[in-house]
Amino acid sequence: MGRRRSKEEKEQEEKLQKELQEKQDIKYMKEAVKQAKKAYALGEVPIGCVIVYEDKIIGRGYNRRTIDKNTLAHAELQAIRKASRKMNDWRLEDCTLYVTLEPCQMCSGAIVQARIRRVVVGCMNPKAGCAGSIMNLLQVPQFNHQVELTTGIMGEECSRMMKTFFKELRQKK
Ligand SMILES: [Zn+2]
Repeated sequence: MGRRRSKEEKEQEEKLQKELQEKQDIKYMKEAVKQAKKAYALGEVPIGCVIVYEDKIIGRGYNRRTIDKNTLAHAELQAIRKASRKMNDWRLEDCTLYVTLEPCQMCSGAIVQARIRRVVVGCMNPKAGCAGSIMNLLQVPQFNHQVELTTGIMGEECSRMMKTFFKELRQKK
């Protein structure tokens, strides 16, 4: 009896933990969406990112590729640069990165290099994503670091934002 109850309690606890994490994930994905909207306002593809350490945002970034005329100006790289400055370390081991769109090969590579513990993705990017769509660079067993991955947090909203952006872009042309 006692054993059975503890199993149920454990399941209950895991469920609660999961719900709590999802709540946190939505909270920070909203912050990433805020960043994406900054890109949107500048006529950039709306992609936003935040990096969280101990329940605090330590880096924010949004896509600035066109205005900066720089392929390195992806949201994730901006956020990693800021977070590293804040932590005074290139390692971001206990951090979680939230990004509205599945990272590309460059950003996924940087995420692994920075040893980020966990990545939370809004919507997937079938044409360029490297966190499961084309390949999954975040979880290659041969690398010395693998990243925990959660996808589809506020996926609909993130996807809608992209679709609206490209629709408006086509109308402008
Ligand atoms: Zn990228």
